[in-house]
Amino acid sequence: MKDLLPIASYTSTPIIIAGPCSAESREQMLTTARALKAEGISIFRAGAWKPRTSPGTFAGVGAVALEWLNDVKKETGMLTATEVANHTHVSLALQAGIDILWIGARTTANPFAMQEIADTLAERGATDVAVLVKNPINPELELWIGALQRIYNAGIRRLGAIHRGFSVYGHHLYRNVPQWDIPIELHLRYPELPIFCDPSHIGGKRELIEPLSQEALNLGYDGLIVETHCDPDNALSDSAQQITPRRLAEIILRLHKPATLSGSENLAALRARIDTLDTELLKILSQRMEVCREIGRYKRDNNMKVVQAERYNDVISSRIAEGVDGGLGEDFVRRLLLSIHDESVRQQIRILKD
Ligand code: PEP
Ligand code: MN
Repeated sequence: MKDLLPIASYTSTPIIIAGPCSAESREQMLTTARALKAEGISIFRAGAWKPRTSPGTFAGVGAVALEWLNDVKKETGMLTATEVANHTHVSLALQAGIDILWIGARTTANPFAMQEIADTLAERGATDVAVLVKNPINPELELWIGALQRIYNAGIRRLGAIHRGFSVYGHHLYRNVPQWDIPIELHLRYPELPIFCDPSHIGGKRELIEPLSQEALNLGYDGLIVETHCDPDNALSDSAQQITPRRLAEIILRLHKPATLSGSENLAALRARIDTLDTELLKILSQRMEVCREIGRYKRDNNMKVVQAERYNDVISSRIAEGVDGGLGEDFVRRLLLSIHDESVRQQIRILKD
């Protein structure tokens, strides 16, 4: 994904996109937009068609929201952004002159829908519109990249990604767990691609917006997309995570924006990767010890010795060769394996004593 262009020609750093989850009325849109504009925000978002989990909940007002977005643009001069999920949405949004289209998490997860959107953009020769692709609901980087590539292949160069977290079953601190390692991997593979954080959908609650935004800026994200409503408590969708324009402005003021973006961005991104890899290493070691304990029980029940020298020597020499092949020092691999082996023996002896 080369030769990308800026999402918008004039923007703040970080780029802030704000506005309600859903367009509800012309009044709600204009009231929110005026307040945002007064706080210095220049890109307004609002969902016209809402992909709701359950039927019977507010599904958006539809195409009329595009007219309201244009009213916002005319009055405030803000750029406009809305979600598209199919051919009709894209056609109508392009016709209305919306500046930024975003693809929702459920749509990114569906290659047929993504191709339909890409084909519509290509047919219309819509090369100037910006498109932001949210991560799919499931934690699958390749699916996210595939969706971005479909849009890129349709000729879109104002292209970006939105990290909105990943769906998991059960109750968690977050509505959608962030799994920062996934967008970090995306960034390492496509350093040119701007990444936005959507703290509203990750957190699902107002109080998580600030810490999540800070985390994103520490990692060098290019922008934030934050659900903002003139009357959050009475919002027709995602009420618990929407904040007022005033509150957003206060948060933005408090956010620390790392000064040396590229240096700290890379360092923070790489450190986050190390954290994830260390966690994986420890998880794998625990799983290995679990298998060792299983073997320990077998040896106990069959009156076998804990340390079997022949097996041990085989393991050490084959592993050392593997490690050296992977660029690790021979001595390091030997010491590492000895240490793992010592721990395995300790765990097996404990089983014998049980
Ligand atoms: C939204 O941005 O309002 C939205 C529906 O988000 P997501 O696709 O991340 O659930
Ligand atoms: Mn929402």
